[in-house]
Amino acid sequence: MIRSIPAVLLSGILKKCPNCAKGNVYSKYLKVNEYCKKCNEELHSYRTDDFGPWLSIIIAGHIIVPLVLAVEQNYALDLWLQAIIWIPLTILSVLFLLPISKSICLSILWRLKMKDDESNLEK
Ligand SMILES: [Zn+2]
Repeated sequence: MIRSIPAVLLSGILKKCPNCAKGNVYSKYLKVNEYCKKCNEELHSYRTDDFGPWLSIIIAGHIIVPLVLAVEQNYALDLWLQAIIWIPLTILSVLFLLPISKSICLSILWRLKMKDDESNLEK
């Protein structure tokens, strides 16, 4: 059965297996499981490359930059205070979004059946 694209994307957002939506994609923070522990679907052969960091930065930027501009226009805080607020908030938001973005990318690649041929040749 082929899962719908919204269902596969939801699995990606929830960091679940794109095939069964039950098993976890990661064993650690960004370490993708070789196979899904619930349905045994192969997960390690989908190379997400830079898409996860790219998507994380895009999303975080579209949230943080308007907040920075709104605070600057309405409150005009000192630069040191803004640095204390925005730098950690930006780093934490990107670290929070990174596994979600990578999982979304893996789900898209799974849905498009875009396995990495090189990883298959190594084994
Ligand atoms: Zn699964």
